[in-house]
Amino acid sequence: MRDSPEICESAPVELTATAGESVRQQGAALAAPGQISKQNTNWPQPLIEGFLRFRDNHFPSDDIEYLRLFSEGQKPKFLIIGCCDSRVDPAIIFNCAPGELFVVRNVANLVPPNEERIGHHGTTAALEYGVCNLGVEHIVVLGHEHCGGIQTLMQTGGTSNPDSFIDDWMKLAESARVSVERDYADASLDERQRACEQRAILVSLENLLTYQWIAQRVAAKTLRIHGWYFDIKQGQLMGYNSTTGQFEPL
Ligand SMILES: [Zn+2]
Repeated sequence: MRDSPEICESAPVELTATAGESVRQQGAALAAPGQISKQNTNWPQPLIEGFLRFRDNHFPSDDIEYLRLFSEGQKPKFLIIGCCDSRVDPAIIFNCAPGELFVVRNVANLVPPNEERIGHHGTTAALEYGVCNLGVEHIVVLGHEHCGGIQTLMQTGGTSNPDSFIDDWMKLAESARVSVERDYADASLDERQRACEQRAILVSLENLLTYQWIAQRVAAKTLRIHGWYFDIKQGQLMGYNSTTGQFEPL
């Protein structure tokens, strides 16, 4: 993300003797690129093999343009706030190439409101960088069907385990859950969860506007924000229509 990769290189990590030896052994194997997948059996082999396929099949091709991205830096127009869920990778769903998307992923694709600066705010920091430094033109909050985070929220029903980071995080969507339980009292659990997944997107859209540097750009029409919903089962993408108040197929 940063334009200063030397920052990473100047931060040595202190390793224990055991861990250091393990890393040195793995590093020695790395010196022989063609042998990576054969020598490091303790590494996740599907990832190593996938990288080798990427390196051989995609990295050198003209359309990827890694060299251009390296020399000119990234200038993505689209910032996606997506869920950590392994089934909803924005780059795959939108069939995008490197450099096209600036992606923030967290549990249930939530945006916290502008609030007290206690703790660390990874999502907000990424939003600030995308909007203020990169100058993205669109922010898409990308929700999805059968979201585990929303499912947890629906199951806990407003209660939370103080020891659970997930429960605490999902409080961000509590107003969505409450409104769904009120408006869909007779609906099935699946229907209520789907409604909550979509209403949580609207909560995040509202929260985006609590940041002055977003609200000002939206008012000036230099930045547009969108609420989209990916239906995994149907392979359908839906967008929130503020006129009808509904999510509609795109
Ligand atoms: Zn999810």
